[in-house]
Amino acid sequence: SRAISGEAQPDDGPIDHALRPRTLREMIGQDRLREKIQVLVEAARRRGDALDHVLLYGPPGLGKTTLSHILANEMSANLKVTAGPAIEKAGDLAAILTNLRKNDILFIDEIHRLGRAVEEILYPAMEDYSLNIVVGSGPSARNIQLRLPKFTVIGATTRLALMTAPLRARFGVVERFDFYEQEAIQEIVSRAARLLQVEIDPAGAMEIARRSRGTPRVALRLLRRVRDYAEVRANGVIDRTVARQALALLDVDELGLDELDRRVLDGIINKFGGGPVGLETLAASISEEGDTIMDVVEPYLLQLGFLDRTPRGRVATRAAYEHMGVPYPERPAQNSLF
Ligand code: ADP
Repeated sequence: SRAISGEAQPDDGPIDHALRPRTLREMIGQDRLREKIQVLVEAARRRGDALDHVLLYGPPGLGKTTLSHILANEMSANLKVTAGPAIEKAGDLAAILTNLRKNDILFIDEIHRLGRAVEEILYPAMEDYSLNIVVGSGPSARNIQLRLPKFTVIGATTRLALMTAPLRARFGVVERFDFYEQEAIQEIVSRAARLLQVEIDPAGAMEIARRSRGTPRVALRLLRRVRDYAEVRANGVIDRTVARQALALLDVDELGLDELDRRVLDGIINKFGGGPVGLETLAASISEEGDTIMDVVEPYLLQLGFLDRTPRGRVATRAAYEHMGVPYPERPAQNSLF
């Protein structure tokens, strides 16, 4: 498993949960988003109304689930948590919806993975709080329409582009999570260390932050690994040197790239002459899943300016060549074939 993957891993569970900020105030970073959400919450509270439906998108591990818990807390609402792949049939969703009470929040993770038939139940539920279901079958089948209490859907997705237009249109608020600034991650690391009663100095926290790919989940995971190292090798105290040594052992470089990122860059540069190369071709050439590359490798490489996405595929930039220590080929201008 990748130490720097933003996706949740089994051993993250309990600690991630314990370290979750519970209020907007406690949430660090994402200032622009936080401000907008604050206004939304205030306005709904004043009107005594349920929140508008909210769609949160962005790479894994940035706080979409955390924010939905915070929203429920700020609105003093019940939160029901489910995920696109868990709702297989229209009936599964109908059962969830009919159990909702007024002002409840339904969090649907990976909402882009809902099936067509399920989505069709969701549209009128979100729009008019009505549930249209068919009971019975054959000639005795009947359509019935039930009224639902006013509730809020919070959807989360790493792949906005895979969401259908009608589903996207049901959300009054659509917000993107960006990678965090290094200073925000440093603060998240320091706060977590405090809660875990780990001694760390600001330089140690910064060293972890630098390699966390702007992702809180990664930062917390690296903190745990560095803590283990510090306990065994440095009396439990994390400073810059201890953090560096521990992270070197994990094979995470100064920019937070690991073996998989480097394999992707190496593939584009050495197997495809720097690109352009299509995602699936690239994935097959290094024996990886296209989805993994798209979700957990590419966004950060794009953010670093190591990759360009062109209509003909992915291209490695000069910065990527430099990071990999490969001389950049000065390309002949386009159309210079003749
Ligand atoms: P996502 O749903 O986007 O995959 P999560 O909400 O599960 O991400 O966040 C992963 C972990 O990172 C959380 O368990 C939480 O402990 C931590 N985290 C996320 N955002 C923040 C934040 N703004 N401040 C502090 N910790 C955070």
